[in-house]
Amino acid sequence: MTADSGVFTLQELLTLGWSMDQIRRATRAKTLIPLAHGWVSSVGADPRVVAAVSAGGALTCVGALAFHKSHGVPAIWIPPGYPETHVRLSKHQKTKARPTGPFRWCQGFGRPLPVLTAVDSIPVALGCAARCLTPEQWIAVVDSVLNTTSLTIPDIQAGMGVVTKSIMAKFDRCDARSQSGTETVARLRLIAAGFDVVVQPEINRHHHADLGVGALLIECDGRLYHSDEQSYRNDRARDRVTLIDRWLTMRLTYDDVLYGWDQALEDIRAVTRADRHRIRRKNDPRLEMKSRPPQ
Ligand SMILES: [Zn+2]
Repeated sequence: MTADSGVFTLQELLTLGWSMDQIRRATRAKTLIPLAHGWVSSVGADPRVVAAVSAGGALTCVGALAFHKSHGVPAIWIPPGYPETHVRLSKHQKTKARPTGPFRWCQGFGRPLPVLTAVDSIPVALGCAARCLTPEQWIAVVDSVLNTTSLTIPDIQAGMGVVTKSIMAKFDRCDARSQSGTETVARLRLIAAGFDVVVQPEINRHHHADLGVGALLIECDGRLYHSDEQSYRNDRARDRVTLIDRWLTMRLTYDDVLYGWDQALEDIRAVTRADRHRIRRKNDPRLEMKSRPPQ
């Protein structure tokens, strides 16, 4: 059962304590609306869930992940560019004509899992998303789930159906320490560009950066992160520490990483080129400045 979707199987309602007579009366009073066979929705049910069930399946993939994001798991990262309603059809519905509309029909690997709830669980949704999203997007979503929920990789694998070799290879590239989708995408792209990337490098006992390439720290501002007052203060305190220790910091926005990566990468290469990012040696004359208080 999916909390708050407002779409139920009759069996779910019976489990919730409804009697068949109550269901019939609610249907007559139009407080319950019949959808596909064996499914009803309440007034005010989530329209995407209603659309998916009316089309003969369950809301899945990025659609289900977006649903979970707005119902208790706010930090799940949702990749841009998937406006359709992603539906996982039941075995029964696959033999019928599919309705037209802004749907995308998604399916995980292996034998189809039964459709028992109106919204797929996070693991089942990830199983479908593995065939629908780019590997980079999928890894960013999984990172956000690992970082912000109690789900582990074995939990996800146990619930997602068949775990193929290609999915295992993608899990190997996941990192639960990632603080945002922006950070994950930047990490994957830096690694692909040949950089030796450190995740959450320690600046001192109290501060970490998002990513490190040598002595270049890269901070990736997710849209949800670094926006509250405490984060604002932490960022400033962290900037002072890095200044004292002579780290270089580059801040990348969501748009820099998602839509302006070529330029961002060029800038990172320019900063790291010619050993500019090397940690300063003890005899670096500029370190003298640290030990000389102003007169
Ligand atoms: Zn999909």
